[in-house]
Amino acid sequence: MSEETNEPEEAQPDYMIEGARSSRSKCKSCRKPILKDVLRLGILVEGPFGTGYMWHHVDCAAKKQWAKVEAAYAAEAWQYAKEKPADIPDLEDLRKLQEEAETKKKDRKVIPYAEHDPSGRAKCKHSGEVIAKGALRVALGQEVEFGGQTRISAFLVLPEHVSAALSVEEIVAGKDMHPSELISALKENTKGLSDEEMETLLAAIGDLG
Ligand SMILES: [Zn+2]
Repeated sequence: MSEETNEPEEAQPDYMIEGARSSRSKCKSCRKPILKDVLRLGILVEGPFGTGYMWHHVDCAAKKQWAKVEAAYAAEAWQYAKEKPADIPDLEDLRKLQEEAETKKKDRKVIPYAEHDPSGRAKCKHSGEVIAKGALRVALGQEVEFGGQTRISAFLVLPEHVSAALSVEEIVAGKDMHPSELISALKENTKGLSDEEMETLLAAIGDLG
């Protein structure tokens, strides 16, 4: 191939693992600065202004960009570092981080969801009634202003009060969700209820019309 190129230097490798040369780069995963000498993974990206590395803490990359970490290790990306880093973590240790992150993600609750009340101490935020331990409760979303942004936090209600709660302005079925989508979203997000319990729940919620 003899295509004309204007590349000033030879092509940069797709991945780079090195100790950060300054504290100026920011981790694209956690958005925090990568301090000087801390191990970082660069992923070569072609952008509108040229080609360059997007940097990640190696640990952060393991949690969020596992395929890239594996590729970088396969390429022994530390060989491209100006100064070869002294401590390169074991790929198996990074894999554990990845698996932990994966498990956490699976356990994360997405609003709306239903669950059995674990304690018997919570109150239905709509009616104020105490929710009996083991009773089904539904987490709707409540729009809250936080640092100039609107966030959705859980608003726990008894199933029979879902419909009434949704008529309150700041109570929503879920993020960007119309109430009519609530039932299918509940089915999808709810874990650990039997089909029978789900039927009971939906009957208690009733028609959201
Ligand atoms: Zn990070």
